[in-house]
Amino acid sequence: MSTDARREELAANLAAVHARIDAACAAAGRDRDELTLIAVTKFFPASDVAHLAALGARHIGENRDQEAGSKVAELAPDVRAQLTVHFIGQLQTNKANHVTRYADVVQSVDRAKLVRALDRGVGHALDEGARHTPLEVLLQVDLGEGEDRGRGGALPEDIPGLADAVAGTEHLRLRGLMAVAPLGLDEAGTRAAFERLRALSQSLRADHPESTWISAGMSGDLETAVTCGATHLRVGTSIMGSRL
Ligand SMILES: *Cc1c(COP(=O)(O)O)cnc(C)c1O
Repeated sequence: MSTDARREELAANLAAVHARIDAACAAAGRDRDELTLIAVTKFFPASDVAHLAALGARHIGENRDQEAGSKVAELAPDVRAQLTVHFIGQLQTNKANHVTRYADVVQSVDRAKLVRALDRGVGHALDEGARHTPLEVLLQVDLGEGEDRGRGGALPEDIPGLADAVAGTEHLRLRGLMAVAPLGLDEAGTRAAFERLRALSQSLRADHPESTWISAGMSGDLETAVTCGATHLRVGTSIMGSRL
């Protein structure tokens, strides 16, 4: 596909997603400014990220360390400077240091060991001049019940302790919660899961008032997430198209 054709395709997809978000906000009586759209660019090249930035996108999401690191490194400095890079995938502790070199936000923090590794990594990156800001983090919650647990994330009962661990670090800033809806639920089940996330967020904010973000909602369930109070939507397929 030519560059122009790809940019037009992304522009049309992005416009359609914005229209869905607008409609969901109207239906839920929410202000559109409360929602941040993150374009999930995994599997797609840096050239697509550059198109998205030119089309006004300001947040991208990536879920694999190696792919994300080289993609961000490929971006022109002015493009990189316009973007907030969110790491949203499962993260091995031994990759934590590398992620701090290119990510502005890590949304998938789910264990104390990873909290410590990220804090150390940011400390090194700051010392080396490889970054200049603290790392914003979200705690990923496992919303599965019973046998549906295990799609990643900390159990709800472990969130308060993990939140305190993040708050006790030098270089990490706790911003809220992230979750992926459990597989195979209908609309009502997804809504119930996202409502559990909203309740957890409310109790988290009692102790950590700055933890206001709720990252929930993907291509298939973003309307439900908007209804349930999400502040950040992570949308891949509906913007990028099917995997290359
Ligand atoms: C891939 C991915 C998304 C985007 O999913 P789509 O269904 O393609 O919109 C969102 N969140 C996470 C954690 C992902 O890995």
